Amino acid sequence: MSNDARIPKTLPSRTGWFAPRDIAVRDPWGVRWVRVSRGAQVSVLAVGLAAFGWFVHASYRTLAEQDIIAARDATIARLETRNDAQSDEVERLERTIAALQDERDRAILARNSLDKELTRRVRERDEALAAASRLQTIVENSEESRIATSDVAMTLENELATSYLKRWRVEESLQVAEDRIAALEEQGGLLRDRAASSDRQATVLKDRIATLELIQGELVARLAPVTNNQLARLEGHLGAIGIDIERLVSGDDAEVGGPFIALTDNERPTIVDARLTALATGIQRLDALRAALPVMPLAEPVDEVDISSRFGNRRDPINGRLAFHAGTDFRGPVGTPVHVTAPGEVIRAGWAGAYGRMVRVRHAFGIETTYAHLSRVSVKVGDKVEVGDTVGKLGNSGRSTGPHLHYEVRFDDVPRDPLRFIEAGRHVQEEREQQAAVEAKPEPAP
Ligand SMILES: [Zn+2]
Repeated sequence: MSNDARIPKTLPSRTGWFAPRDIAVRDPWGVRWVRVSRGAQVSVLAVGLAAFGWFVHASYRTLAEQDIIAARDATIARLETRNDAQSDEVERLERTIAALQDERDRAILARNSLDKELTRRVRERDEALAAASRLQTIVENSEESRIATSDVAMTLENELATSYLKRWRVEESLQVAEDRIAALEEQGGLLRDRAASSDRQATVLKDRIATLELIQGELVARLAPVTNNQLARLEGHLGAIGIDIERLVSGDDAEVGGPFIALTDNERPTIVDARLTALATGIQRLDALRAALPVMPLAEPVDEVDISSRFGNRRDPINGRLAFHAGTDFRGPVGTPVHVTAPGEVIRAGWAGAYGRMVRVRHAFGIETTYAHLSRVSVKVGDKVEVGDTVGKLGNSGRSTGPHLHYEVRFDDVPRDPLRFIEAGRHVQEEREQQAAVEAKPEPAP
C-alpha cells in the first residue's frame, strides 16, 4: 500500500462529464500517474468534434458538386439538341425564302409581259380613236358612222379592261399592286380626258350643223317666195290652156318628150325640214314645167297673125248652119310659109278630104297639131321637125271659101283652143324678156 501515498488525498467527484481523471502510465521506469485535467478533456473533445465536422462537411460538398456537374451536363445536352432543331428550322426557312423568290421572279416576268400587252392595247385603242376622229371629220353628220366607230372603241376598251384584270391578279399575288393601281388610275384619267375631248368635238360639230341649218333656213326664206311666185305664174299661164298640168309635171314617155330628171333619194335633202322639202318640191315642179314648155305648141303657125275664124261654135261659112269649129283660121296670101309650132314627128302629109292638103304632127304629152287647106305640102310622114320648120304653104285647098290656114291643136285627141296655147306662149315669152331685162340691168348711176 505504498502507492496509496501517491493517490491525491482530496479526490474530485467521480461523477460529471469532464471530471479530472488520473491515468496510469507504465513505462520502463515504473508506473506513473498522469492527471488529465478537465480543460484538457474539453480541448480533446473539441478537437475531435471539429475534425468530425470538417469530414462531414467535406463529404457533403463533394456529393453536391457531383450533382451540379451532372445537371449541367444534362442542360448542355438539352441545349445541343435544341440547337440542332433550330438549325433544321433555319434551313427550312431558307429553302422557303428561295422558293418565294423564284415565285416572285416568275410573277415579275408575267407582270412585264402583261405590261407589254397593256401598252400594245393602249396603242391600239389610241389608233382606233385617231381613226374615229379622222372618220368623224370626213363624215361629220353621219350618226351611223359615229356609232360604228364607237363600237370598235368599246370592243377595244373591253379587251383593255380584261388585260387590266389579269394584271391586277398578278399584282395581288405579289402584294405590290398599289403602284400599278396608281398607274392604271392615271391611265383612266387620260381616258376620261380623251372622252371629254371627244364630247367637245361633238359639241363643235353640233354647233356647225346648227349654223348650217340657220344659213339654210335663211336661204329657204329668200328662195321660197321667188320660186312660189314663178311657179304660180307659170301654172296660171299653162292652166289657162285647159290641159292637165300634173301630166306635164309627171313627165312624158314619148321620144320627143321634154327632159325630166327626178331627184334620186341620195339627192334629197338629208335634214328633215318641212320648209326645205316644200322648196325642193316647188323647184322640182318649176323645173318640170319649164322643161315641158319647149315641147308644147306655144308658137304661131304664121308670121302675120290675122284671125278670120275662132275656135268653138260658129255659123258654117258654106252652108250657114251652126257648127263646131275645131281650130282657128288665119287669113293670108296663098304661098305664105306655114311653120310647125312645136318639135315633133309628121304623122300625116297630103290630101285629106275636106281638109284639102294637110299636115299633122305628133308632139309630146299626147298633143297633135294640124295644118290644113295648104297649097303645098313640104314634108312627108315620118319627118322629124323642130319648132319653126316650114311644113307647107298657105292655100285654099279642100272645103274652103278663101285662102287661109286652118290650125288645130288636139290634146289626147280632143280639140283645144289654139289661141290659148299661143297666148300662154306670149306670156311666157314676155316674162322671159322681162327676166332677161332685169338680169341685164346695169347698176344704177350714182
Ligand atoms: Zn278652119
